[in-house]
Amino acid sequence: MKIVVAGAGYAGTVAANRLARKVADAQITVVNPSTEFVERVRLHELIAGSGTATQPLRDVLDDRIELRITAIEKVGDGVLTLSNGESLEYDKLVYAVGSSNDAPEGAYAVGGLETARAAKAKLADLTPGSTVTVVGGGLTGLEVASEVATERPDLTVRIVGDEFGASLSSSARERVLDVLRDLGVDIVTGMWTPDEFTDLTLWAVAGQADTLAARSGLATDSAGRVAVDSCLRSTSNPNVYAIGDSASVPGARLSCQAALPQGAAAADNLACDLAGQVEKPFSMSFVGQNVSLGRKNAVIQSAHRNDVPTRIWFGGRPGAYLKEAVCRGALWSARTGNALWVRGPK
Ligand SMILES: Cc1cc2nc3c(=O)[nH]c(=O)nc-3n(C[C@H](O)[C@H](O)[C@H](O)COP(=O)(O)OP(=O)(O)OC[C@H]3O[C@@H](n4cnc5c(N)ncnc54)[C@H](O)[C@@H]3O)c2cc1C
Repeated sequence: MKIVVAGAGYAGTVAANRLARKVADAQITVVNPSTEFVERVRLHELIAGSGTATQPLRDVLDDRIELRITAIEKVGDGVLTLSNGESLEYDKLVYAVGSSNDAPEGAYAVGGLETARAAKAKLADLTPGSTVTVVGGGLTGLEVASEVATERPDLTVRIVGDEFGASLSSSARERVLDVLRDLGVDIVTGMWTPDEFTDLTLWAVAGQADTLAARSGLATDSAGRVAVDSCLRSTSNPNVYAIGDSASVPGARLSCQAALPQGAAAADNLACDLAGQVEKPFSMSFVGQNVSLGRKNAVIQSAHRNDVPTRIWFGGRPGAYLKEAVCRGALWSARTGNALWVRGPK
């Protein structure tokens, strides 16, 4: 039995490590373009110079897993075309290639490792008084702006977006914006235009799905994410499970919070399938959102089970401790194949 896991982000590593434990007689191969495991939730730390965001991928994966460092060009029926010119057969595929990070030319995408590293180098070279513009008022944009402003108080930091922290409750959002103002961040409401390039422009706008699924003929949603049934199986190919940012899972949003349990659930279902047992529909509730605001501050927002924010949130140092624990917990999940989550309402 040949199982291939496409992509070694949060979703793919959880799935692969869990499968290594659960399906003893299968040959498990992970295909990933880089030798590094990227902790995407820490890329703003890497950019600002306050932390790192990579681990050797081999160390994150179980020793029983074979690792192929290349990208998948096409998903065929039982065979993958790889960008190194080789092909790789599979009986079961776990599709977990994440989302892409395309930024306009001249801007640096926050969500990609190479672009984040280039942004870090550029930021380090900026002289006092230079201007950094962060494009995107979602949680990632807010994290980047506050991290850069904390680490480089000698720079002018702007954040541009049509709205800021829209997924938070109004009082939590106000706290986040107050912290940004205290850090001297210039909050600019409106759509960013190309004439607003500054000394460094950081792109923190939500990524698109990779075109791999669509160009391989897998059924996708309108955003190019693989359409799945309730058990996380592709609706067009029963030998493919899709998880994380590259899967169209009803009720999910692009997040590590969803990617980790989906990785665990897909591995469990695949193991059930091989054992001739009944698979379980995937079910999870979001529990909240965590926004880091530098290394010593954060806002932790709780949510109803349908991901709508409650009025409960807290911030400050306790928030920063919890956010750090969440990031460490995500890496622990990736390494061990364990994931903790709250199931959705019946
Ligand atoms: C700065 C930042 C902060 C964030 N903070 C949070 C947070 O606090 N909480 C939260 O829940 N979420 C957060 N997110 C979102 C979260 O990081 C993503 O939703 C999560 O990484 C998705 O996991 P994934 O495994 O689906 O994809 P990824 O982690 O993106 O992994 C995909 C993997 O597939 C590989 N790949 C891509 N194409 C191919 C191919 N063709 N062939 C083989 N492999 C391929 C990639 O190289 C990568 O290793 C944040 C994101 C950013 C950028």
